[in-house]
Amino acid sequence: MESWVEVADRVLVLRHRPDAIDVSTTAVVGPHGVVVVDALGSPTQARRARGLLAEVTSAPVVGLVLTHAHWDHAFGASAYADVPSWAHHRYIVHLAEHEAAELATGHAGDHAPDDDAPWDDVDLAPPDVPVPRTTTIRPGGRDLVLRPLDVAHTTCDLVVHVPDAGVWVVGDVVEESGEPSLEIDSDPARWARQLTALAGRMAARDVVVPGHGAVVDRAFVRAQAVGLAAAARARPPVT
Ligand SMILES: [Zn+2]
Repeated sequence: MESWVEVADRVLVLRHRPDAIDVSTTAVVGPHGVVVVDALGSPTQARRARGLLAEVTSAPVVGLVLTHAHWDHAFGASAYADVPSWAHHRYIVHLAEHEAAELATGHAGDHAPDDDAPWDDVDLAPPDVPVPRTTTIRPGGRDLVLRPLDVAHTTCDLVVHVPDAGVWVVGDVVEESGEPSLEIDSDPARWARQLTALAGRMAARDVVVPGHGAVVDRAFVRAQAVGLAAAARARPPVT
């Protein structure tokens, strides 16, 4: 049974299908409302997660932040169309260049939506607020620092830092349940450098919420950066 689990002070994570895709959605509960980070892979999944969230907090959802545009994190966004949304300033370009075609063809790589999570009502709407540089927002009454990255896992990765809880919600720039996913637009060398820099901003006891899998720590992030740097050296140059 999927459920929201508190991983740090008033920061909850729901892991969707931990037996399979194991993708996370995160809720930061503040005095004036909840900001959700990532929307899972379909409106059905997102509505289910939002319903479960309403069972554990009476605070209203007041915002949505998206860590990147991949379907498994973004295709549920229309379930939060009633609140403002933030994403990397290149998010909308990524949607147009990659996810729109996936939606039109009905599959993303070897993934196709099932009856339990159809894509019929996916809406690839642009975020209300494109984020071009590090920005602090507080729609729920707690500071959230949004850090858009240079090219890493994708061209539109954005990291969410919750300073008062020592939490970093990093999307797929860190994966715990599998190896980091090198996509067509990934740049493992720049990705490794940015992960090392991010780790340098983290405290040893900070909690890192990866896009997939269980929460990890700074040491895990550093180790993944080392692995990505090695992958970059081994990758044949693009010609
Ligand atoms: Zn993912």
